[in-house]
Amino acid sequence: MKRLVLFGPPGCGKGTQASKICGVLGIPHISTGQMLRDEHLNNPNADKALHALVAAGKLVPDELINEMVLERIEKPDCAHGYLLDGYPRTLSQALFLDTISKIDMVVMIDVGDDAIVERMAGRRICMGCGGTFNIHFLDDESTCPKCGNRLTVRPDDDPRVTRQRLLVYHEMTKPLEHYYEERGKLVRVDGMGDLDAVFSRIMSCLGIDI
Ligand code: AMP
Repeated sequence: MKRLVLFGPPGCGKGTQASKICGVLGIPHISTGQMLRDEHLNNPNADKALHALVAAGKLVPDELINEMVLERIEKPDCAHGYLLDGYPRTLSQALFLDTISKIDMVVMIDVGDDAIVERMAGRRICMGCGGTFNIHFLDDESTCPKCGNRLTVRPDDDPRVTRQRLLVYHEMTKPLEHYYEERGKLVRVDGMGDLDAVFSRIMSCLGIDI
């Protein structure tokens, strides 16, 4: 059983690393940001106020996210573990999570703010498969290398919004580092460098040979 949290600033590579980790461990990848984006794609006219918060780089209310996560982890595919990506993001969410599940390990991916702003400016997401890519590693900036659909810029990856998201991260989310460290659950991984190098560091923290 592995119940993991992947934690770190926006754009530190959580999403990409989360899918790789889940591929190896065979557990579901639960991204609250992706759940909100999926819901918006399927229901663009529902809850505009909520999506205005996301587009502005602000957090959506704790109660809503907590409810979403509770409902998700009760599904049968989570019976043998899961990886939470982008949750918890506030102390109140962490306290709630403690009441609904036992977390085995919290992996924090460490990347500095300047590197984050640079990475996010080059990030593109696919309208078809939801994959995330960086233009620095693409031949064609507008086409998904996986499924051929159109790549777009996430509205909240605009550099001004990125700065706002980083502010929110430092104020609301970074304090969770201390929360999980005190409980002996936190491991820190250097998030700089090559994607595969970061992945190997994470796997070695999880005690898994790849
Ligand atoms: P992410 O894909 O994790 O970067 O999340 C994108 C956006 O979704 C965030 O900037 C927030 O607006 C919203 N969001 C995702 N997860 C949470 C959460 N745990 N609490 C509050 N808002 C969230």
